[in-house]
Amino acid sequence: MATLSPILKQATPVVVDYAAGSWIHATDGKKYLDFTTGIGVTSTGHCHPDVVAAAREQVGKIVHAQYTTVMHKPLLELTELLGDVLPEGLDSVFYATSGSEAVEASIRLARMATGRPNIISFQGGFHGRTVAAASLTTAGTKFRSGFSPLMSGVHIAPFPHWYRHGWDEATAVDFALKELDYLLMTISNPSDTAGFIIEPVLGDGGYIPTPPAFLQGLRERADRHGIVLIIDEVQAGVGRTGRFWGHDWAGIRPDVVITAKGLASGFPISAIAASSELMGKAWPGSQGGTYGGNAVAAAAGVATLDVIRRENLVENALLRGNELRAGLDKLQTEFAVIGNVRGRGLMQGIEFTAPDNTPDAATALAVQQAAVAEELLLLTCGPHGNVIRVIPALNVTADEIQTGLARFTQAI
Ligand code: PLP
Repeated sequence: MATLSPILKQATPVVVDYAAGSWIHATDGKKYLDFTTGIGVTSTGHCHPDVVAAAREQVGKIVHAQYTTVMHKPLLELTELLGDVLPEGLDSVFYATSGSEAVEASIRLARMATGRPNIISFQGGFHGRTVAAASLTTAGTKFRSGFSPLMSGVHIAPFPHWYRHGWDEATAVDFALKELDYLLMTISNPSDTAGFIIEPVLGDGGYIPTPPAFLQGLRERADRHGIVLIIDEVQAGVGRTGRFWGHDWAGIRPDVVITAKGLASGFPISAIAASSELMGKAWPGSQGGTYGGNAVAAAAGVATLDVIRRENLVENALLRGNELRAGLDKLQTEFAVIGNVRGRGLMQGIEFTAPDNTPDAATALAVQQAAVAEELLLLTCGPHGNVIRVIPALNVTADEIQTGLARFTQAI
């Protein structure tokens, strides 16, 4: 007899029977409002009929065709659809299965393209759990400690943590860019630096939007020094922030975009996009994997992008996100335990703090658990675990947002 590893300790006692849209029907007979979406994955809600139909149809045609052996139609269609939404100039797409693999592929690409060894990531960033991705990750020590040595050639630069330091955003950006320049002068010479990698909104690091001026500063330095700017859109991309890409809020052009999670509504697939010129610097065999760009996942991705466009889900994410945010801002004025509310679109974080403004993880956890009793599913995040993140489906309704806010209020 086997049991599940204790590593798989769930944040809630819920066992899913079936799910539809924003609702999870559990084996306990209760119906939970799901504001976790499998950690930002089920973008079109659970079991969107079009996504289910596309996957079902594809299963009957071919499930797996290894993409360096033979190509299949869904991946060609997905690439065409991505071409309509990718930033200008990023016309070459490569596929993997998870976010971490895509992160790894992007840093290998930056190294191959530049012939330089170093990658700079930013404090509080989360890029995954494989050894290379964990090396870039500083969203909490639990993601790094205990299994060193991690990958060499990684330097971690300060992130403009304005709220943490009680600064205004401009001061934090100025500080972080100056520190980055100092790092490029003292530790990682530009001629040794292959890439910057950053999230447009810190995800597991606490749902903190990266200030647009900081991304613009990175763009400027990347141009000046020939460094590859990699934007990790694994959690913030595909409409989640109310724009198709999280970096759209900063109006910058990335060199590489990585996407996964919301791309196929729950089927595992990730994509790495760059210019043909940059992508051409990687040689066949250097990237990829057996399951990369799986045919059923790709078909689900095609249906997902189609639903997002047809049902105007990016716009819905912005509108519902604004309603959610208005409700959360109001709660901040009513409950002293809420120290800060921030985010973009349907990616909002509520930071719980003690009266002396220090992180209060115990209250965040208690609220998350009380929410389960209210039949609302929420997750925590942040290095201290004191941030509750709200990540509804992109097609969440105005009523569901209000129901969620009411249940959240009860939980607090
Ligand atoms: N990058 C970001 C921004 C993420 O949020 C995650 C996962 O949460 C990853 C990378 C890693 O993705 P995966 O868990 O699919 O490997």
